[in-house]
Amino acid sequence: MDQYRGRYAPSPTGPLHFGSLVAAVGSYLEAKSRGGLWLLRMEDLDPPREQPGAADAILRTLEACGMGWDGDIMYQSQRSAAYDAALARLEAQGLVYPCACSRREIADSSLKHDGALIYPGTCRNGLAPGKTARAARVRVGDTLIEFEDAVQGTVRQNLAAEAGDFVLLRADGLYAYQLAVVVDDAEQGVTDVVRGADLLDSTPRQIYLQRLLGLRTPRYLHLPAAVNAAGEKLSKQTLAPPVDARDPVPALAQAMDFLGQAPPAQLRRMPLAEFWRWALAHWQATHIPRRRSLPAP
Ligand code: GLU
Repeated sequence: MDQYRGRYAPSPTGPLHFGSLVAAVGSYLEAKSRGGLWLLRMEDLDPPREQPGAADAILRTLEACGMGWDGDIMYQSQRSAAYDAALARLEAQGLVYPCACSRREIADSSLKHDGALIYPGTCRNGLAPGKTARAARVRVGDTLIEFEDAVQGTVRQNLAAEAGDFVLLRADGLYAYQLAVVVDDAEQGVTDVVRGADLLDSTPRQIYLQRLLGLRTPRYLHLPAAVNAAGEKLSKQTLAPPVDARDPVPALAQAMDFLGQAPPAQLRRMPLAEFWRWALAHWQATHIPRRRSLPAP
């Protein structure tokens, strides 16, 4: 069997908060408890959403938490040639089409699934006269994707009904997350993706792209996503407080508790090295709650 290669892939939209710490701790312990590598990828492909200094702040916080990564960090901002090549391969298969729709037009005409807008296919058979291409979309056809998630169980998605033809290259010229994540997980040789279940609905689209591009599908493990009292995912927008890099053990112990690992009460007062000794010795993925989201402490 190949060596386990896990990864953590933060977006530098703000400092590390409890929700992103949970994904870091879960992916780190899964990798390290299996003698695997824990790779780091900075998902800085969306400058309008980024905060200056956030990438470095995230790295310093991971270091302060005692989570060292293996090898060099991959920066998505330096990967556009690889995304160009992947898009060209999909174009050569006749699977990509230009889309001229504005957000407004999509909102007005789209079908809805679980509150998400499904593109109605307006430009699928060519642009209407006088329209100019803004984005590039991939055709999903009548595709059913099914995979086994190590925590969430069997996941099935009918791409046409639940995702629709999705954007690979955005109207602002930036590559979409779905394409970049697939290209980069393959480039980093990732065997196992451990991340928050807020991304569970994206996984079938990623598996679809892996198949079209002839890339291996990794194993997936989606952790419950941390939500606030209003049920919103923790984020910069929902004002999640940053993890305290000067005193990270209490938050690390809370992350272990959140992940169902039943840490003893005194763990939050232990020195960092002892915290990790305990965490590595006791980590059990089978104890992770089988939930898509859970309230943050
Ligand atoms: N960059 C994404 C995020 O911070 C995670 C992507 C992934 O793990 O696939 O939400």
